[in-house]
Amino acid sequence: MKGITDYDTLLDEVGTGNGCEVCKPAVAAIFASLYNETANRQETIQDTNDRYLANIQRNGTYSVVPRVAGGEITPKQLMAIGRIAQKYDLYTKITGGQRIDMFGAKLHELPPIWEELIAEGFETGQAYGKSLRTVKSCVGSTWCRYGMDESVSFAVEIEHRYKGIRSPHKFKGGVSGCIRECAEARGKDFGFIAVEGGWNVYVGGNGGATPKHALLLAEKVDKETAIKYVDRFIMFYIKTAQPLQRTAPWLEKLEGGITYLQNVVINDSLGIAKQLDYEMQALVDSYVCEWKEAVETPEIRERYTHFVNSEETDNNIEFVSLRDQKMPKEWA
Ligand code: SF4
Repeated sequence: MKGITDYDTLLDEVGTGNGCEVCKPAVAAIFASLYNETANRQETIQDTNDRYLANIQRNGTYSVVPRVAGGEITPKQLMAIGRIAQKYDLYTKITGGQRIDMFGAKLHELPPIWEELIAEGFETGQAYGKSLRTVKSCVGSTWCRYGMDESVSFAVEIEHRYKGIRSPHKFKGGVSGCIRECAEARGKDFGFIAVEGGWNVYVGGNGGATPKHALLLAEKVDKETAIKYVDRFIMFYIKTAQPLQRTAPWLEKLEGGITYLQNVVINDSLGIAKQLDYEMQALVDSYVCEWKEAVETPEIRERYTHFVNSEETDNNIEFVSLRDQKMPKEWA
């Protein structure tokens, strides 16, 4: 309401004290969602994963996860990941989100690894952030004889649309080319399934500790309408969910449930549809790759040192070999 865009001003104008460990991450998340502030620019109030743009692993090393939109990857890109993982001796694993994680990077290795990945056309996968993870797709009508529509192109388009958007929690999507549902779109925060006459749109599905099937938001709509509804759903979720609340518990607690949500998103019962459309488009248009920004900005690169006032690297991390790859010593 006051148009405040940084933590210190917020504290001066409406806060008390020096700020605490409860309000800092909450404020960081709200700024990130409202202004698409990258983690780089909010670094003093972000946690470790956002501060270093990587997930810290249990042995103190970091993961590297490039985006593979829709799970589609070229042979050249596959070879590039293989080459870079081999060069830096990283453990590699194909994930459930249809991308390739690389583990075991030391802090000082992150910028050069990302420099090489970016040169090969990759960008951050934001696996460290409360943001869009992946949009899983089946092979769809391009290759599958059952396919009703082209699920891969839709998944690629939608993953690029929502990448980088910060939200109360991580969120995922799925696109299936027919009701056989090979992409498990109904297990995702939003999902599209091709049916006779258009796309069915589902929202509020989650995996995790309390798995939940998504609910049907709209039936047999064209692609543009499907995107418009999911745009509004995501913006409405971002603006009304509690911090760290995923879409399923949010939808469960929403008074009136899916019917209420349909009214907001489809029938514009609150008169905010245009505003939600505008806000979503502003987030989409303001995307930048945080890792590109990090490797090109000397002040950000300086964060990737193990010790203050020393160029030394951390040589205390030990690995062993298991199934032809390196593993943290304590888990082998
Ligand atoms: S969901 Fe349907 S179109 Fe997609 S791979 Fe499975 S059977 Fe084929």
